[in-house]
This record gives sequence, C-alpha cells and structure tokens, in this order.
Amino acid sequence: AIEGYRNRNPKSAAMLDRARAVMPGGNTRTSLWSDPFPLCIESAEGCRIRDVDGHEYIDFLGEFTAGIFGHTSPVLAEAVAQAHADGFGLSSHTPYEVAFAERIVERFPSMDRLRFANSGTEANMMAVMAAKLTTGRGKIAVFDGAYHGGFLSFGHGSSPVNAPFDYLLLPFNDAAAASTAFAAEGSEIAAVLVEPMQGAGGCRVADRAFLEVLRNLTQTHGAILIFDEVQTARMSYGGAQSIFGVIPDMTTIGKFFGGGMAFGAFGGRADIMDRFDPARPGALPHAGTFNNNRLTMAAGLAAIDTYLTADKLTALYQTGEDLQAAIKDIFKRTGAPFKITGMGSIMNIHAEGTTPEEALTRQKLLRFRLLEDGYFIADRGLIAVSQAIEEKHIEGFLQSLEKVAAT
Ligand code: PMP
Repeated sequence: AIEGYRNRNPKSAAMLDRARAVMPGGNTRTSLWSDPFPLCIESAEGCRIRDVDGHEYIDFLGEFTAGIFGHTSPVLAEAVAQAHADGFGLSSHTPYEVAFAERIVERFPSMDRLRFANSGTEANMMAVMAAKLTTGRGKIAVFDGAYHGGFLSFGHGSSPVNAPFDYLLLPFNDAAAASTAFAAEGSEIAAVLVEPMQGAGGCRVADRAFLEVLRNLTQTHGAILIFDEVQTARMSYGGAQSIFGVIPDMTTIGKFFGGGMAFGAFGGRADIMDRFDPARPGALPHAGTFNNNRLTMAAGLAAIDTYLTADKLTALYQTGEDLQAAIKDIFKRTGAPFKITGMGSIMNIHAEGTTPEEALTRQKLLRFRLLEDGYFIADRGLIAVSQAIEEKHIEGFLQSLEKVAAT
C-alpha cells in the first residue's frame, strides 16, 4: 500500500523535496507530517479536496477539527471580501468585534467577557497567565495526553520540552489522583487546564464525574478551572460544558469560530477578565496586532450566525454520534482489530495490535487504503465531520471502511 501511495503521488513527493530546502523537514505544522510524505492539497469544494497529482478525496479530516463549514462558502467569502473592500488594518476598534464578542459570550455559561487572540495556543497561554496573576500562584495542573497548543503538549508518557510555566502532570479521568494532588499542594495550584475531550490525545472523552470533581476541587482550593474547548466548542451551542453541565471559570476557543481565519479567544468570569481592562491601574497587557483584525472578525461573525447555530451544531453532533455507532458496529461485526472513541462529530479510530509497532503499521495501512478509495482521514485515525459531508458520503465511507478494516 505504501508503494502504491508513492507511485500515485509523485507531485506531492516532489513538493516535499522542494519544501525541505526552506522549512525544516519541509514542514511548518507538525501535525501535517506523514511518512513517507504528506499529500499536498491544491484546491477544494465543499467536502471534496484535490491534491497536486489530481486525485479527489472526500474530506473526513476537516482540518483537524478546525473546519466545520466545508472548504468553500459563499457566505464567508462575501463577508471577508466586504471587510476587505471596506478597508483593513485600521488601527482601531471596529463594529464587527463587538457584535462577534456578544454572540460568543451569550452562548457560553462560563463567559462574562472575552478577549480575542490569533490561535488556540495563544488563548490558552493568556488564560493561564490570567489564572496565575489572579491567584498569585505558580502551578498549572494539566493531564497526560493533553494538547493545548504547541507550547504545551503532553504526548502520552512524554514530557513537554517547552511548557512556559510550572506544571503538575496528572492522569486524565482519574478523580482520585486529582484529589490527592490538591490535598498535597492545593495552595500552590493556580489553575486546572483540561479538555472536556482530549483531542490530539486520541479523542478521549472526560467522564462527567471527573469534571465535577475538578470543579469542586478548584472551588474548594481557590484555583481556577479552565476548559480548553478549542475543539469541543462545536459539541453544542454552549460547547461541551453545556452538555456536561459543568461550568468552568474560564474557557478557551479557537479553530472554526474564526470562520476559516486564524483565530483564538479566551473568556471567563468578569472578576478574572476585568484584570485586562486597560483603564485599571496595573492592568494585564494583551496587545496583539491582529487580535481584532477585521477579516477574522467579519468571517467569524458571519460563521457564527450562519453555521454555528444551535440547530446546526446539534444536527452535526447527532451525525457524528450516528457515524461513531456505525463504525463501532462494523468493528464488532467483522472483528476487525480497531476501536473508536470520540464525542459527536470528532472521533478517532485506533488500531490494535499485539505490539505497538503492529498497531502503528495497521493504523497507517488503514489510512493508505482509505485514501485509495477516495477518503481522507488523519494518519493517526482522527475524523472530524464537517457540515459539508452528506449522507451519501457517509454511506460510501462506511462501505470502504468495512472493506479495508477487514483486510
Ligand atoms: N487546544 C486544543 C484542544 C487543540 O486541539 C488545539 C489545536 N489542535 C489547540 C489548543 C491549539 O490551537 P491552535 O492550533 O489554534 O494554536
């Protein structure tokens, strides 16, 4: 299958060779790396993507969860074109950002106020800074397998090389371990930073009871609970926090909320966020040139009203749940050595094996075979369903999966 992949994709391979001279490994976004070389996608329409060698795929990866609208949208194109035509880079506030902030704050129970940033990474960094300065404490509790951005990623069993603060690494979904940690050093913990579903960590969904314990511990010990909803905000109108019924002190978002543009935002309780009020003595600084850039604000505003409505998010969640159930059924019926985990429209297929190497090979083969059938998912088995995916695409995908998983 790997040889077939090489033979079918000479232009993608050549593109990587060219890129290696100017970007390390030809890469500027680590998650896109794929052995022996990643596909280079040239254009797209709806949920169809086309690579430089001319193959078409139905996109079940959805920009690693950042894409929810599919790849082309007249509504977003018009919003960006209008903002562009009206002038950008205005050294000022614009009406777009107020309207956009109002729409976001109204949907998250945990957000009294928010600030815009340029990525989920930055949003998390700012939330952590706010929590440290609000509590006067230094440690951030995080979980094994967490991914909060390039600056703070905890692969399973590996330690981060770049966490810009003291952290306390705890096992995910282990309420007892969190309680023990707080009993021992609760007075030093500024915040708990947690994904309601670990995304890059393999779509591991938090137990409601675990999140409830984190809520109680942080409340009791005067620490701040931060939900990283950069991925999970799509689970409902009010994000995963509304589904779990656990309301954090701060929430970070990103990805699809920017309407296809670079985006991040962090928000939370007024008493925490108002420390950024620049009219206050000793206000926290947060002055990104592009924080409120007009193109993102316009695209985000259009997206939130058009695509991120309560009805559409609920429908997408259900589509994802149905797809997960159908995939689970395939693995059960055929006995194919795979598992699926996830929540709503974001899920991960995990290959099993008697050794990690065997599982990895099986995982890669699954992807190559799905590609041969015209379905695009991540190397690591990640699937994120977009609103552009229709029933017929799902049926085709399931047929292909049933065939290739068994071989
Ligand atoms: N948090 C989570 C849960 C994420 O999945 C990601 C991105 N994959 C980030 C934070 C970082 O966001 P960005 O890539 O926009 O910096």
